[in-house]
Amino acid sequence: MENIIIIGSGLAGLSTAIELLDKGRGVTILERYKVVGGRCADWVADGMRVESGLHRWLGFYKALPRLFEHAGLNPDDAVIWEDELEIRLPDGGPRGVLGLAPLHRPVQTVAGLLGNNDLISPAEKAQLTYMFTAGLLDYTLSKKELDQNTVYDYARKRGVSEEAITNMLIPVTEGIFFLPPERYSAMVLMGLLMPGVKRPHTIRVGSFSGGMTEVMCGPISEAIVRRGGGLQLDTTVERLAVEDGRVRGVYVNGELIEADHVVLATSLGAAQNLIRDGLGDHAWFQKMLSLPTMPAVTLQIELDEPALPEDHVVFSPKTVLASYAEQSRTTFRDVPGRLSIDMGQPEKFIGQPPETIFAAALADLKRVGIDIEGKVRRYRVVDHPQDFYLLTTGAESLRPPQATPIPGLTLAGDYTKQGLFCSMEGAVISGQRAARAVDRAMARG
Ligand SMILES: Cc1cc2nc3c(=O)[nH]c(=O)nc-3n(C[C@H](O)[C@H](O)[C@H](O)COP(=O)(O)OP(=O)(O)OC[C@H]3O[C@@H](n4cnc5c(N)ncnc54)[C@H](O)[C@@H]3O)c2cc1C
Repeated sequence: MENIIIIGSGLAGLSTAIELLDKGRGVTILERYKVVGGRCADWVADGMRVESGLHRWLGFYKALPRLFEHAGLNPDDAVIWEDELEIRLPDGGPRGVLGLAPLHRPVQTVAGLLGNNDLISPAEKAQLTYMFTAGLLDYTLSKKELDQNTVYDYARKRGVSEEAITNMLIPVTEGIFFLPPERYSAMVLMGLLMPGVKRPHTIRVGSFSGGMTEVMCGPISEAIVRRGGGLQLDTTVERLAVEDGRVRGVYVNGELIEADHVVLATSLGAAQNLIRDGLGDHAWFQKMLSLPTMPAVTLQIELDEPALPEDHVVFSPKTVLASYAEQSRTTFRDVPGRLSIDMGQPEKFIGQPPETIFAAALADLKRVGIDIEGKVRRYRVVDHPQDFYLLTTGAESLRPPQATPIPGLTLAGDYTKQGLFCSMEGAVISGQRAARAVDRAMARG
């Protein structure tokens, strides 16, 4: 049987592997770390269990549950539906809990929309309804034009007040993907909302019932191995073996590992480095090489008791806390208190000493009424320097498709073309598309 090497065991690599195994093809995944999952992993860092960052599973995801089912797993075992989110403004500002499940919690969802008037006035609700209706229509009619607007500019053009932008739009841009409305593409925001608008009954939000390697990527990779796929951890691909214009394999520890086809399923920064070395002059890759990256920084704190009365996601605009959640009743049940924070302004915090990041978070936690001083057992910072593509205006046109013009090479990963941007769902879809591209290329010979 042929050997297809997949570089990277994130959701894109795992999804590519499952789909290719379904097609009867032979695969081996090479992963540089000792755990599978990439940006959906958990592991032990200096004695404390950490995760790659706070993740939320959205009810309208279809490809991700399908990946579980292909691996013989039940997605319901991995998710705990929370179906709500909280917005907490600092310095005594308003707060509100919004239901996020029209089918499963209709009363709370409707009450949240009609109430919370101190967070957002009825007039501002009307402004936002108008903006989102126009935005979704523009997304349907012309994604390209919409991608020329930042969320901030688009909202101002549609008459949304500064206060409504702060209270409601920062949570859905900076809260979800660390970028403020002034930099975030309006096309990305509308694109993320579109699947929920098309199927409103599927809108839900859930957390994981354990670490993401434990309940998702680990069991999926075990299914891959049971079905005959190979998985080599702690194996860094140093470069692609490019010969006579085709990819013939990869180099690991200076040794060539030959392959019939290679799927590059790393995050954007790592993919750009591997492409630069060997294919950097090729015209087709120039757009991908100029696609800007953005970092993410997360802070994870173990506590003597829960920091919050509920495990649900919280957004705090005007602070460094882009989104955060207590997790001791859901994902990390073996500790009495566990707070996971995705930091806002990651460019400012990336590479900073953990004490600096902790001090900044502690100060802003106090401003939103959460005092954890004296209850902290330990904390860790997990950085992602170049893992995301920048969700800014114009970036969409630089994203590459999965199929490349280079024989023997296919791309996968959340930065490659698919409609769900930097998300778990987007990564899985990219893997499905990559598998189809590989299958077509192999059939051509
Ligand atoms: C803090 C944070 C919060 C997030 N929140 C959400 C959320 O709430 N909901 C959501 O849907 N998504 C969320 N995401 C996004 C989601 O995690 C990613 O979109 C998805 O996991 C990307 O998967 P991937 O397979 O494309 O890339 P990755 O998961 O990055 O996988 C790439 C793999 O390639 C490996 N690799 C890299 N270079 C090499 C090499 N040279 N040799 C061998 N292996 C290599 C890496 O180690 C990694 O395992 C979040 C991400 C982060 C970091």
